[in-house]
Amino acid sequence: MAPHATTPPPSSSPYHTQQHHPITVLASSRAIISGRLTEATLIISTTTGKITSIFHSILQQSDFPPETPYIDYSPRILLPGLVDAHVHLNEPGRTEWEGFWTGTRAAAFGGVTTVIDMPLNAIPPTTTVARLHEKVEAAKGQCWVDVGFYGGIVPGNAGELKALVKEGVRGFKGFLIDSGVEEFPAVSVDDITPAMKELANEATTLMFHAEMIPPITASTSDDMQHSHPPPALSGPLNVYQTFLDSRPPSFETYAIAEILSLAPLAPQLPLHIVHLSAVEAIPLLREARRNGVRVTAETCFHYLSLAAEGVRAGDTRHKCCPPIRAQANQDGLWAELRQDRAGGVIQTVVSDHSPCTPALKLLPPELETARGKAQGQEEGAEAERGDFFAAWGGISSVGLGLPILWTEGTRRDANFSIEDVVRWCCRNTAKQVGLERTKGDLGVGFDADIVVFDDEESFVVERSTMLFRNKCSPYENKMLKGVVKETWLRGQRIFSREDGFAEKGGPSGKLLLEPRKTRA
Ligand SMILES: [Zn+2]
Repeated sequence: MAPHATTPPPSSSPYHTQQHHPITVLASSRAIISGRLTEATLIISTTTGKITSIFHSILQQSDFPPETPYIDYSPRILLPGLVDAHVHLNEPGRTEWEGFWTGTRAAAFGGVTTVIDMPLNAIPPTTTVARLHEKVEAAKGQCWVDVGFYGGIVPGNAGELKALVKEGVRGFKGFLIDSGVEEFPAVSVDDITPAMKELANEATTLMFHAEMIPPITASTSDDMQHSHPPPALSGPLNVYQTFLDSRPPSFETYAIAEILSLAPLAPQLPLHIVHLSAVEAIPLLREARRNGVRVTAETCFHYLSLAAEGVRAGDTRHKCCPPIRAQANQDGLWAELRQDRAGGVIQTVVSDHSPCTPALKLLPPELETARGKAQGQEEGAEAERGDFFAAWGGISSVGLGLPILWTEGTRRDANFSIEDVVRWCCRNTAKQVGLERTKGDLGVGFDADIVVFDDEESFVVERSTMLFRNKCSPYENKMLKGVVKETWLRGQRIFSREDGFAEKGGPSGKLLLEPRKTRA
């Protein structure tokens, strides 16, 4: 028996005496169990889909009754399924941008077994209980992985928030700047104040898109509130630096200072900054945490792997808000992220998968030909092609995050450990959305959401490996290291790289609507 076995060995277990063997056994010389790399054998109940016991050694098939399904994946790594806590699935209402079916298949392909859907870009947005119900109806029967939902904070909906918590939303998000869609308006202090009072004692998290226009500077005006180009452009509209200059780090620091100033209204309510990009905001957040403010931040795969210096003129696939910044900023984000166990402010990494139709990305013809002419491109004004201000802001990457982080992490540090990825993308994201008892870890009692990961193999991001609806992503044609060979959801193999999806059974994702019990 292994020294850390959590239950007695099978010879003395009931498995040998049962007539039926309702278990599946997965083993490997490498698995991340409770955050640590170890050899392991996982016993999964096929009835509950949960992990019922774990041995910190590789048991043999002969240790189990003859018909027991048993796979030894050595030396591939068994990881907990990723929890992507920031995804826009856009259905209903903008299903041509993305949908539950396509978005969750892309997730499963990349080892993401839980996604949390953002409250905006679907129509209607998730800002009332009735609207949440509409979204849930649209999602039913379409999800290949488990899906949870956030609610939105918009002007005038504070009265809905407690009811949304009871309906099982995982947290709330508001914008301090134009969201890009008119049905999800930004909030001001006058809206945030009642929202914080409503949520002060609830088991939830209040999150913000933290960009805000500081009092007038040369590069800004009221027009910027509505995503129009600022009056004082620093260069041509199709040059990335022009766009980057228009959304300086001060937008993020100003917004974060504003949020932190409101924190005393609800001292117990966890606050969270979504998609932090500017390293200049880190000292502010560190200081707040030192003073006892409950605030965390996430960053995104793209801020950790792409840099402004590498964005070609007109390549609007890179447009997102806040923007991808300079290489030095990327280095700073990595440095902070690697401090996560020592109290760093960035605890999680998410995709912020926010797609649109190719037409709305307004790609110039030379970039378009690489993947065939975008349908409906003619809808986009010819003159606006390659215009970073006119193009939709959002990056498509759901399901690519694990190899993106693995590629970049190992490039930076030969000793980079997959344990870090599991902390940032599984354990901490699960905790952020109140799923830390069932998701984000391989442990007894957890859902058997398991990724079989080949950390040596590489692949090219192309049409066949981008399963989201619109094949338009800055990662296209890039070589990534690390291949998800299989994805298991609650004890069932839902995807394998060799055989594809378990189409016969159809999508088996659950909607995660049980109200959360814990704060982040
Ligand atoms: Zn987003």
